[in-house]
Amino acid sequence: MDLKLYNTLTKTKEIFKPIDEKEVKIYSCGPTVYKNATIGNMRTNIFQDVLRRVLKYNGYKIKHAMNITDVGHLVSDGDEGEDKMLKSAREEHKSPMEIAEYYTKLFFDDLESLNIETPEIVCKATDHIQEMLEYVQKLVENGYAYETSTAIYFDVSKLDKYPILTNLDVENQKAGARVEVDKEKRNPYDFALWIKAPENHLMKWESPWGLSYPGWHIECSAMGQKYLGEQFDIHTGGIDLIPTHHENEIAQSKGKCGKIPANYWMHGEYLLIDGGKMSKSLGNVYLIKDIKEKEYDPIVYKLFSYSCHYRNKLNFTWEGIESASKSLERLRNSYKIHLEGNDTLDNTDKEKLINLQESFLSAINDDLNMPLAMSFVWEAARFEKKNKEIASILEKFDTVLGLKIDEINELQEEMPQEILDLIEQRKTARQNKDFAKSDELRDELIKRGYTVKDTKEEMIVKKA
Ligand code: AMP
Ligand code: ZN
Repeated sequence: MDLKLYNTLTKTKEIFKPIDEKEVKIYSCGPTVYKNATIGNMRTNIFQDVLRRVLKYNGYKIKHAMNITDVGHLVSDGDEGEDKMLKSAREEHKSPMEIAEYYTKLFFDDLESLNIETPEIVCKATDHIQEMLEYVQKLVENGYAYETSTAIYFDVSKLDKYPILTNLDVENQKAGARVEVDKEKRNPYDFALWIKAPENHLMKWESPWGLSYPGWHIECSAMGQKYLGEQFDIHTGGIDLIPTHHENEIAQSKGKCGKIPANYWMHGEYLLIDGGKMSKSLGNVYLIKDIKEKEYDPIVYKLFSYSCHYRNKLNFTWEGIESASKSLERLRNSYKIHLEGNDTLDNTDKEKLINLQESFLSAINDDLNMPLAMSFVWEAARFEKKNKEIASILEKFDTVLGLKIDEINELQEEMPQEILDLIEQRKTARQNKDFAKSDELRDELIKRGYTVKDTKEEMIVKKA
């Protein structure tokens, strides 16, 4: 069955044809390791994980590279502001290296707790300074780059077409419409390939242009080419990367070797919180840690994200997480029941099961339509007859879902009425700000063998 993927480059769903039939090469823009990854970042990682898993389900081998940005990503995503790594280092009184190590580890911990596969190649920007330098030198040699007193810029006017992923009208963009930091720039959309380091700059390297450091876009071009070649199959990232980072990666590659680096460009939409943006000032930046703190298995968040196609905005709510948690528990229980089932499957059942598997494949192969695929997963889980064969089908589906379907639920016993009454009384005490009463009731619950955890919004009571 054909696999169709939406390509931002052509703005259509295309039948996927890899360059090499045996191995699909993917590049994903990885994290800038200057702060905790949010559940929004993780949505993009879940989408990339599903893509890998779907390709494998279709029989492909994967060579997937993901970078770790530990230098050069400026606060504005363009050529303005401080380096994000240096800003964090300054604020947290640590060295940029310590910051990078700390947040890289947390990032991989999050991937692990979401059962997201680690790409075959993980490459750090600061380990590839030489490759980046050579790339920039080649661009200068090819006439696509020029030096100013502050940086080496890419000259977008040298390209046949810029941009190509978006419809931005660069030609008619009035000079000066974009606030320029460097008056020596030839065109408003020229971007920095290499930046000359100010005197006290912490991260800088020797180069033909003195002590300096790489721009953010050059790292992905240099590492992508090093590990996957001048042209590979799929390039992924979040939608915010389209207009600047990915556009500029394409420009760089065209300037260096005349090629668009990837044939398919795939982008995941944003996660919204309560219908809006996640932001520090609104106090609604959530991390995987927050989901764990509410005693949910983080994989619940993965299942939650399957309620929406990766190209649509997904709205996060705690109610949504609670409902996904119940669904995950139900799914794992159904799997267990099928595993222990001995009902005989007749020909009609078998035919239904074959159809279900075909429907599942056609859903995932239709540009990773996970909400539709989940409806077939549920049909299998709720199959009237209980049989091991259905458990094996669910296991096969789980190679795409990555929900650890065979994990045993910690089934919570039904709570006795007296405990439910104590919880209700404590809720009332908390609402009335009667803290003495609330503490007394908490101690009573603990005495009766329960754990009590209070968060800003609620209390979580479980059997100890
Ligand atoms: P940042 O940490 O903001 O540089 O983002 C790193 C990556 O995560 C980028 O590719 C973004 O597209 C992605 N990302 C950031 N915020 C969200 C969000 N709310 N929803 C989905 N992806 C996001
Ligand atoms: Zn990138």
